Amino acid sequence: MSAAPIAAAGLVGLCLGSFANVLVHRLPREEGVVRGRSHCPHCRATIAWYDNLPVVSWIVLRARCRRCRAGIPIRYPLVELAGGLLAAGCLLAFGPTPAAAKAYVFLYLLGVIAIVDWQHLIIPHTLTVAGMVAGLALADRAGPGLRAALLGLAIGGGLVWALSSGYRLVRGQAGMGGGDVMLMAMVGTFLGPGAAAGVLGAGALLGTIYAIARAGGRPDGLGRLPFGTFLAAAAAVVLLWGSRIWTWYLDLLA
Ligand SMILES: [Zn+2]
Repeated sequence: MSAAPIAAAGLVGLCLGSFANVLVHRLPREEGVVRGRSHCPHCRATIAWYDNLPVVSWIVLRARCRRCRAGIPIRYPLVELAGGLLAAGCLLAFGPTPAAAKAYVFLYLLGVIAIVDWQHLIIPHTLTVAGMVAGLALADRAGPGLRAALLGLAIGGGLVWALSSGYRLVRGQAGMGGGDVMLMAMVGTFLGPGAAAGVLGAGALLGTIYAIARAGGRPDGLGRLPFGTFLAAAAAVVLLWGSRIWTWYLDLLA
């Protein structure tokens, strides 16, 4: 594949990465994401288009707001860069196919969900519902097929719902929440039921290791966990390397 379409995909991806920053900032605050100009969260000044160019503006402004000089976290250009590299990478890996679109949409949403859950301990339904719609729409052309996607939706969401209901019965408090149920339903539509169950197991394991490390041995130090971040990380690994890991595992057993 020639360099021009990959560069074009990278440029579009940079802009979508910029939109990911908007989603990360506004969804947890229940602000609209389509209308409304971006403004500096510190001084509220509206940001001009030339100060809102992905990555470039952050460098030109030397990571400071033009008006109030408040610092702009490096997370912003990094998320933009990730959006660009992801788009170029998906096109390079899959060509101009439905599989490339599926990989981009899925990994993009997982990235936004991972950051929002890490920062705010919530998973906005806007993202997971959009993901389910996209996953079902692409299922027949990019896998796992519509039947498997619907089954994955029900089983992914149902497993988390059953686990969290059981946990609440035993411990009297919420472990995973409704956002996690929706996230796993979305993961199921993209990956199918078997892989979704694997994602749940791996994500729960990652989250538990993190919880134990963070608590430092104090049983009261567990607190609430950004489970969605770990589920999202596990889902990305399964999308990219799931079949390879599965083959390796079967070889171990053989
Ligand atoms: Zn400012």
